Amino acid sequence: MNQSTNIHFRKYKKLVEEIEKETGLLEKFHLKHMHCKKGCDLCCIDFSIFPIEFHYILHNIRGKNIDLEVHTDENICKFLNYHSCTIYSYRPVMCRTHGFPLIYTSEEGEPELSVCHLNFTDFDFADFTFENTIPQDKFNSKLFLLNKEFIKEFKEKKYGEFDLIPLKEITNYLQ
Ligand code: SF4
Repeated sequence: MNQSTNIHFRKYKKLVEEIEKETGLLEKFHLKHMHCKKGCDLCCIDFSIFPIEFHYILHNIRGKNIDLEVHTDENICKFLNYHSCTIYSYRPVMCRTHGFPLIYTSEEGEPELSVCHLNFTDFDFADFTFENTIPQDKFNSKLFLLNKEFIKEFKEKKYGEFDLIPLKEITNYLQ
């Protein structure tokens, strides 16, 4: 890995730590309303990620023994292995906010709330505020900017700033 990639990966890791800090606080705050637990994997569906996340994960798992369950359903994330995430320490940002109440801006420019239907079953939605939800736009913007810097200096492959790569494609590099 060259020096500039190393610097971008360090910045990405810092963002992940910032998100983990925020989710850690929210987890304590919403403790009795969140029922996420090992084995609940409804949100583990196949999705796409920015090149910086793709290469960060690939860099960290390449050469490791990653167990992959064969799923007949193409929509299930390839890294879900018997109800457990096989790349948990390196999972993408999106996975780190699974289950938490998220606030984001809709295409119409209005604040929208996204909540897992298995959580907050007895919570008054009117009580959700910017303080007790994840500010998804803020983290998405930070990730977008980090990715933009990363792809500018990434020599192995050219990417456009809106390019996303299916997470499952990482498995093509593992054999
Ligand atoms: S990477 Fe892990 S946490 Fe994220 S969707 Fe896949 S199995 Fe779930």
